Amino acid sequence: MTSAYDDKIWLDRYPDPSRHSIETEFETALEMFAATAQRVGDGPLIEYYDNAISARELDEMSDAFAAGILDAGFNAGERVVIYAQNIPQFVIAQLGTWKAGGIAVSANPMYRARELTEILWDSGATVLVSMQDLYRDVAALVVDATDVRTVITTSELEYQSANRGPLASATRIDCPDTVDMATMLQKYRGQSPPAPELNADSIAFLTYTSGTTGPPKGAMTTHRNVVFNAQTYRDWIGLDSSDVVLGVAPLFHITGLVGHIAVALLTGAPLVLMGRMDPTETLRTIEEHKATFTVGSITVFIALMNAPDVRPESLATLTKIYSGGAPIPPSTIRAFEDRFGHYIHNIYGLTETTSPSHGVPFGVRAPVDEATGATSVGVPVYNTVVRIVDESGQDVPPGEVGELVTAGPQVAAGYWNKPEATADGLPGGVLKTGDVGYMDADGWFYIVDRKKDQINASGYKVWPREVEDVLYEHPAVREAAVVGVPDEYRGETVKAFVSVRPGATATPEELIEHCKARMAAYKYPREVEIMDDIPKTATGKLLRRELRRT
Ligand code: AMP
Repeated sequence: MTSAYDDKIWLDRYPDPSRHSIETEFETALEMFAATAQRVGDGPLIEYYDNAISARELDEMSDAFAAGILDAGFNAGERVVIYAQNIPQFVIAQLGTWKAGGIAVSANPMYRARELTEILWDSGATVLVSMQDLYRDVAALVVDATDVRTVITTSELEYQSANRGPLASATRIDCPDTVDMATMLQKYRGQSPPAPELNADSIAFLTYTSGTTGPPKGAMTTHRNVVFNAQTYRDWIGLDSSDVVLGVAPLFHITGLVGHIAVALLTGAPLVLMGRMDPTETLRTIEEHKATFTVGSITVFIALMNAPDVRPESLATLTKIYSGGAPIPPSTIRAFEDRFGHYIHNIYGLTETTSPSHGVPFGVRAPVDEATGATSVGVPVYNTVVRIVDESGQDVPPGEVGELVTAGPQVAAGYWNKPEATADGLPGGVLKTGDVGYMDADGWFYIVDRKKDQINASGYKVWPREVEDVLYEHPAVREAAVVGVPDEYRGETVKAFVSVRPGATATPEELIEHCKARMAAYKYPREVEIMDDIPKTATGKLLRRELRRT
């Protein structure tokens, strides 16, 4: 990497410098998978309930997917939106999109019509892969108003055996005017599309994030980014094909895309997918599949501890545990260790850093900041340069608080079709994280605050403006301000302050229902407070910090 910050690489902080993976071993994530498919062959690569899909089958099915969309008129460079939970078809569609020379775009399955439309419009996707129920309930209502030409529907039942799992009683839904994925894979079985013209700089994913500066935008994650951070996970933690990855993080999020899928595609360690987060089912799955590694959000670990029928032995094999996406207090790490005997390692990164930029080295205990009680997020991962700067962009000394800025081979190429947001948030390939923290004298990093308005509800990020916009659609709302407030379970939750138009009335419950109907479940305000006036600066800017304290 060449950057202005080369002199700030803290190579000496690493636990084992011989494990540096400075160079990416493959040009593209597709080549990375091809090498693994050769090696693993008929061994399982994706497991889902009672079904195992081997590396060879995954290769063949993704070939068929690519052949199918190419035959339907897909062109290299076009986008495929995948709107699905953690099911094997997600991985098939992603690999198939790459094999057709395309870009995979993931959409949170919790999205409602307005949020999905935004992603379809912004990405200009021509293919939509959707779970059947999500298509019927949401996507079918909006897809005609987008550039989507081909809709492929699929169901979680495809790979679930008849009498197993929480969803086994669901039935298939008939979706008119769509292509059924199983039928398509059958039809194009055995066909291999021509090799796509991809290189390390080609975009692998668009992953939508509010970033530091505003409404959702697609971070352009390149193939180099994906390969590099798959190697980071492998080398930082010491993963290989004898591991088993527990896929509890959502696949649409960068943690799932890289910490689950890319890790499996690189190492050949089978990925056991969890369809929906059900603690009892998760414990059973860990035990049955002897899962050894996972990365997820704090809520997963809290849910496992609180599962009604938890037996500490269930987690016997799951020794490599990482928590990211949100702060994890030392008390949670301690309680988990008391219960299961395993230490949770903190890991930190953003969508724009393709998952980790920092992590606690495996087997090492993170120090805790005495003043704030924050668990250290660790040290920068391989070949990653992190500075802490003041408002004028000057480095601050160790111990002093400033904004983290990051450069490295995992930093995304920018935001899709948004040169201004790219110039603002990623000037010259250096990411301004919007997170505020410091480095101690030993090189450990701590996040203590945020510059950005983003709310972090147990790893799910909420952009206040989006919620405010929906509140403004309610006829009684005069002004609205949305902030994150502390929450015992989620870390933070969404609260709205609203003032009502003269002569109009609205109850908090009514406003909550109004939002709930129009946005993903993690975004709507859990609390609404009606005020006469919302505090603002003399120039009319909302005083969010003041509201957070009320
Ligand atoms: P996302 O783009 O959804 O991955 O969100 C990235 C943001 O999550 C970061 O900018 C941080 O604010 C927050 N975050 C990620 N990991 C951690 C962590 N280990 N501790 C505290 N905050 C975190």
